[in-house]
Amino acid sequence: PSVPELEALQHADVARLLPVPRVESDKYRRGVVGVVAGSARYPGAAVLAVAGALRGGAGAVRYVGPAGQAVLARYPETLVHAGPPGRAGRVQAWAIGPGLGDTPGVDEVLESDVPVLVDADGLRLLDPAAVRARTAPTLLTPHAGEAAALLGVARDDVEARRLDAVRELAARYGATVLLKGSTTLVADPRGDLPVRVNPTGTGWLATAGSGDVLSGLAGSLLAAGLAARDAASAAAYLHGLAARRAARGAPVAAHDVADALPGAWRDVI
Ligand code: AMP
Ligand code: MG
Repeated sequence: PSVPELEALQHADVARLLPVPRVESDKYRRGVVGVVAGSARYPGAAVLAVAGALRGGAGAVRYVGPAGQAVLARYPETLVHAGPPGRAGRVQAWAIGPGLGDTPGVDEVLESDVPVLVDADGLRLLDPAAVRARTAPTLLTPHAGEAAALLGVARDDVEARRLDAVRELAARYGATVLLKGSTTLVADPRGDLPVRVNPTGTGWLATAGSGDVLSGLAGSLLAAGLAARDAASAAAYLHGLAARRAARGAPVAAHDVADALPGAWRDVI
């Protein structure tokens, strides 16, 4: 039986994926997401990734990195850790990379036995063998430029053949890959599944920091127990809806998108 190459994400599919707390839930059972992001140079990326993570269904967000003060000033509910990720306590999923600069931590996080999302600076020097050796799912979230660097081709080559590029990355890394852009694509390392296409994107998302919000959001959905393919799909869908909701025809900032996520979630369920 032939499987379609592409599958457009639909409202009802996303509604079924979103986690709902049970009566017996507590914050740990809802899932703890660890966010490793930000640097002295880019503290705001940490704040935006945490902003997304707080709206993704995990019961708690642990932030690990040098921007703890900036994160706490905006989000006092965050559990902040300055040391290496391994000392932060148990998490159910990691999201690493936004604004990270050269801060180490990617190797250590990849050695963990929980799902890991890698974005932005975390994607630099990412070793396919280290990712393939993981025992838990990995989700990579490059934009076209980052995908091009991972594949060793020019950015225009990725833009010209986005479907091939996302599949090739998923196969090479044995990871789920979310390729960002005007139409976001999600490919699974299992090559026999259709590539998912997100229809909710909007050009208003082309603004600094919006990808950082997406990373935190998708990481939070991973911690809440969604499979990597589902976490990526649901995050892209909600992120686009939130941007539309926040923008309503006018420019928005990345933090407006994060603030609009609960409304987008309500629109879906
Ligand atoms: P980043 O490149 O990491 O800052 O992430 C940008 C975010 O905005 C991703 O979620 C992209 O899919 C989204 N995005 C950027 N440009 C567009 C566009 N023209 N249409 C729809 N979404 C976009
Ligand atoms: Mg980015």
